[in-house]
Amino acid sequence: MSRIVAILPAAGFGTRMGGESPKQFRPLDGVPVIIFTLRRLAACPSITEFLISTRPDEVDSLAARVTQETLGKPVRVVRGGDTRQQSVANALAEVPADAELIVVHDAVRPLVTREQVERVIAEARVRRAAILGIPAMDTLKEVKRASLPEDVALVIATIPRERVVLVQTPQVFDANLLRQALARASEDGFTASDEAGLVERLGHDVYVVQGSERNLKITKPGDLELAEFYLATERAAR
Ligand code: C5P
Repeated sequence: MSRIVAILPAAGFGTRMGGESPKQFRPLDGVPVIIFTLRRLAACPSITEFLISTRPDEVDSLAARVTQETLGKPVRVVRGGDTRQQSVANALAEVPADAELIVVHDAVRPLVTREQVERVIAEARVRRAAILGIPAMDTLKEVKRASLPEDVALVIATIPRERVVLVQTPQVFDANLLRQALARASEDGFTASDEAGLVERLGHDVYVVQGSERNLKITKPGDLELAEFYLATERAAR
C-alpha cells in the first residue's frame, strides 16, 4: 500500500477568534477541534499516517492527548513555525522519503467528509496537485486600503465571480512536487497563504475539486457554533 501522509498545521495563535485558547484547542462535540479533525481524517482509508505541527509549548501535551485516541495509524507531533507555510515545512521535513502523496489539511477544518478527502486524493494521484474549493456566492471586488479609515476601502475593480473559487483544504500533492515547491519558496523568501500557491509558482497545474460550505475553517467568533449546528444536522440526516 502506498504511503499517504497527512500534515495538519495546528500552530496558529487564533488571533481573529479572541479568547484565551487558540481555535484548534477549543472543544467541538466535547473534544478539541484538532482531535475531531484528526479522527475524521483517520477514518479515510487512503491516509496511512499523520504529522501534526503545533506550537513548541503544546507539542508534549498534544502528543499525550493523541495517544488516548485509537486511530490505528501512526501520529507524530512536531514543532510548528511562525507562519503556516513554515509549520507545513517543518512537518514535511519529517515525512518519509518513500511517501507518495501529502495531504495538507487545516487543523481547524473539522467537518471535512471522508468522501471529499478521498475524492481530492484520487484526483491528486492522477494530476499530482489537487485541492478543494467552492464557488464564490458574493460579488468580489478588488480594493485598496491606503490612507482610509480602517473600516473603509476604495474599490479598484470587480472580479467576475465565475472566474474565482474560494479555496479550502485538503490540498493534496505528489510528495516530491510539494518538497520542490517549498524548497523554491524558501530559496526565494516567498510566502503564500496556501501550499497550492507555491506549487503554482513552479508552473505546475493545480486542479480544484468541488468542496462544500460545511467544510468551514473555524476562524472567527461564531464559527464553532456554526460547526456544532452543521454537525447536528449531519447526524440527524444519518
Ligand atoms: O491562519 P490560518 O487561518 O491560515 O490557519 C490555518 C491553519 O494553519 C490552522 O490550523 C493554524 O493552526 C495553522 N497555522 C500553523 N502555523 C502558523 C499559523 C497557522 O500551523 N504559524
